[in-house]
Amino acid sequence: MTRLYGKDCMRNKEWIFNISLGNYIKLGSYPEPGCGKPDLKTILEEIKNDGFGIELWMNWNPDKNVFDRPSWPNIRKWCEGCKNLTIHSECVEKDFESVRKEIELASYLKARALIVHVLNFGVVEAEEKLAIDEKYFCEVLKLAEKNNVILALENGRFESLKSFLAIGGKSPVLKIILDIGHINIPSSSLLPADCPDPAKVFFEEFKDRLVHFHFHDNSGKTDDHMVPGDGNIDWKRVLKQLNEINAPHHASFEIRTNFADARQASLRARDYLNGLTV
Ligand SMILES: [Zn+2]
Repeated sequence: MTRLYGKDCMRNKEWIFNISLGNYIKLGSYPEPGCGKPDLKTILEEIKNDGFGIELWMNWNPDKNVFDRPSWPNIRKWCEGCKNLTIHSECVEKDFESVRKEIELASYLKARALIVHVLNFGVVEAEEKLAIDEKYFCEVLKLAEKNNVILALENGRFESLKSFLAIGGKSPVLKIILDIGHINIPSSSLLPADCPDPAKVFFEEFKDRLVHFHFHDNSGKTDDHMVPGDGNIDWKRVLKQLNEINAPHHASFEIRTNFADARQASLRARDYLNGLTV
């Protein structure tokens, strides 16, 4: 009897979507006066109840101290039982003590990955500061290895990711997270503007390293962080290609909303993506 393997099995491999806490504070700019103060415990409870995973956003500015060490037992309690847990670094600049704290928190919470940016290692793409501090990068990698924490490096420029892998590629904890919204903007990826399928270029190059994704949409010009389906990204094609390379079905929604509409935006995103037949 012939059975349908391959495509059919893939189709049943369900995606697990995390909600970034950044979605509750417009990805960093704390909401306008009068909005009140989002309560982290309540938000995490709601995310879990809706069947999402969680992406902790380390520059959660409504309460600066919430990720300090004395609060870790609370954070662990609040995240307990969620489908998937990732942590997004504060990503400001090279700061060993700050990244040490994040690595140790990721280890303490048994997070799937700590998401870092090239900024964490002194690369400022917007200012053409592209040199990687190799010694510093290797020290951070060593610390992550010691703590058994995956460092997921987020794009930016296509070439930057390649440069980082050329230096740290032997480390088993160095992985890649691809932000599909960023790939859609030529000035971010720096792939040629006439590249017919930038996402495919990224997928092919980094497929052996992929651990997670960021999902949001835009019109291809500015980094709008819209709900998937509201911009011009061909999500059906993206999901199909990710199936074809057998990518992990783990993504976080990074949508620029505040705590009044973050929940609805993620529910809408999930419905839209689950409704695509790929
Ligand atoms: Zn992202």
